[in-house]
Amino acid sequence: PEGDTAPRPAATSVDERFTRFDRHPGYQQLKMMREGGKRLGIPDPFFKVHESTAGATTVIGGRECINFASYNYLGLAHHPRVIQAGIDALERYGSSVSASRPVSGERPIHHELERAIAETYEVEAAVAFVSGHATNVSTLGYLLGPKDLLLHDEYIHNSTVVGAQLSGARRMSFSHNDPVALETLLARHRRQFERVIVVIEGLYSMDGDAPDLKRFVEIKQRHQAWLMVDEAHSFAVMGDRGLGLREYCDVASTDVDIWMGTLSKTLSGCGGYIAGCRELVEMLRYFAPGFLYSVGMPAQVAGPSLAALQVMKDEPERLKRLHDISRYFLEQARLKGFDIGESIGVAVVPIIVGSSVLAAGLSDALLQHDINVQPILHPAVPEKSARLRFFLNCDHTREQIDQTLEVLETEWKARAS
Ligand code: PMP
Repeated sequence: PEGDTAPRPAATSVDERFTRFDRHPGYQQLKMMREGGKRLGIPDPFFKVHESTAGATTVIGGRECINFASYNYLGLAHHPRVIQAGIDALERYGSSVSASRPVSGERPIHHELERAIAETYEVEAAVAFVSGHATNVSTLGYLLGPKDLLLHDEYIHNSTVVGAQLSGARRMSFSHNDPVALETLLARHRRQFERVIVVIEGLYSMDGDAPDLKRFVEIKQRHQAWLMVDEAHSFAVMGDRGLGLREYCDVASTDVDIWMGTLSKTLSGCGGYIAGCRELVEMLRYFAPGFLYSVGMPAQVAGPSLAALQVMKDEPERLKRLHDISRYFLEQARLKGFDIGESIGVAVVPIIVGSSVLAAGLSDALLQHDINVQPILHPAVPEKSARLRFFLNCDHTREQIDQTLEVLETEWKARAS
């Protein structure tokens, strides 16, 4: 064949910065982080291996620890009914649905889960994706295009930003929890775009604070934009019945155009959902890329999430305990003079320590006392607001919290002197 004898183009010569993974800026950053940690004698705070279920307590390195690093807020990931639902679904449907949902991956348990989510939200329909991150990426990437605008809180989760990038829409952020800043942007830019979507979260997982939903609803209505609320950390957490931000702020569910949430937090599975009107959900089921081109959710994930939602309703004392213990943590942290930022004291409370080195050092010191709490370091948050981030759990006791804050105070003082 001609190809065998035809002269080949000259080989390409490229600087090795562009061919070697160890010259990639990401790897360079990782190396610097590790060397910095080593110099300061602070072990890598990431990828700690938990050898048991992770609720109010966990096992790390063979030792039982008080645990503040898992978002299993109602302790349902190890609830007997939730586990049994996983076993039943696995036995009934097997370990994989072996196809994407539109093309033979559909199982009754998907419908049961989606119906239960839609009913809980009091909206027409819901659809469940295999990943929470992919839910935002796919939904926003699909719904918006280059003539559209996405406005989001400056602290919005990465999945919304990536979804905006995929869509090609213009993207602007407004200052955290600031409806006035949002309205300024809408007044200035709304007319230049076709669709405009505003994305906020129900409970911000780094800060434990929440938006004033009523004001956001009023503003999006005035400027004819869609409002999407990411309830990853607020659904099944906020409100006396666990109905999320709408219950907490007393807003009708239909005042929000797109409810998004994850199955990975209180609902004790893995995946995400969109809940809203029938047209929205139908469209996503047929066309959203992360749904259409991805395998259907395994039944042993859907089953436990459905059971977790039911247990939340059947055992309302869990929510009450979560709210009570969160408030107790907030109050005690305040009494000790810790900076807890703007946390409202529901499930997530940060203690801002002011530098990444101190946050990592304190987290390591706490672990020596069998207390596991994740440090949140720059660049996840600005350097001066590096923090320890506490996820509360309905099974935490006051004694565990007293002990934790005591140890933290002592270790912090030791470093200050
Ligand atoms: N949205 C928010 C606000 C989140 O915090 C997260 C991750 N915790 C996600 C989306 C992605 O969800 P998942 O981890 O379930 O993929």
